[in-house]
Amino acid sequence: MTFDLHTHHNRCGHAHGSIRDYINAAVEKGMPYIGISDHTPFFAETDDHPSPEASMAKSEFPEYIREVLALKQEFAGQIEVLLGVEADFLPDHVDLYRSILHAYPFDYIIGSVHDFDGVSLYDTSHWEQLSPEGKLELKNSYYSYIAQSAKSGLYDILGHVDALNRYFPGYDKLRTEMADYTLSTIAAHDTVIEINSSDELWVPDGWLLERALHYGVKVTFGSDAHEPASVGEYFNEIRKHLMEIGYREWAIFKNRERIMLPLQV
Ligand SMILES: [Zn+2]
Ligand SMILES: [Zn+2]
Repeated sequence: MTFDLHTHHNRCGHAHGSIRDYINAAVEKGMPYIGISDHTPFFAETDDHPSPEASMAKSEFPEYIREVLALKQEFAGQIEVLLGVEADFLPDHVDLYRSILHAYPFDYIIGSVHDFDGVSLYDTSHWEQLSPEGKLELKNSYYSYIAQSAKSGLYDILGHVDALNRYFPGYDKLRTEMADYTLSTIAAHDTVIEINSSDELWVPDGWLLERALHYGVKVTFGSDAHEPASVGEYFNEIRKHLMEIGYREWAIFKNRERIMLPLQV
């Protein structure tokens, strides 16, 4: 059973193709499920569309939902289209996001940390000028954001946990007890983490996934596709990787309810 719960499209301003293009790509790959999960607008900003290259306008959000729901109906019987969203985790605005997102019939909500303590996930130059202690502190701060996002109870899935591994050289070598605290917090709040394949370096890595399994954290898959051709990318490789680690099932969501599918084909 192939699926992909993390896909974007042209509304966010940095992905290519329409929602229909992503669904068609999944149909061509014979996938029974495709989740559409574009970035949330910046709901906390007063401006309707403050960052056209980061996410859709606030006023566009209802139209996004309508389009996915219409396609869900149109493709019924051919592929199951799931309505999702990738919400930024912003600790100061969780209640605002919660009240807005709860008004829509999502199958699932992904929560992702993109900024923490004023640092962007992609800010390699900031990382490089830090001392070893500073780097460890930054990693701990990132983990504390992830743990807080799990505690918020707003999300079914946490997006690209450990994405810093892609941008911050040496990140994976820094061991911290915060990893254990974060994973046990995620497990305690019954939240799922995705294996994100948007880059050849999948995140999180095998080391963290082994610990995640130990703490009972459930997993899912998301390509984080920003082009239709990337839908389902590395699905089978990641499936095998998870089997080797010891996982036997992974999750999809319908109507905010978790359904576990066997990893074994
Ligand atoms: Zn994106
Ligand atoms: Zn993201």
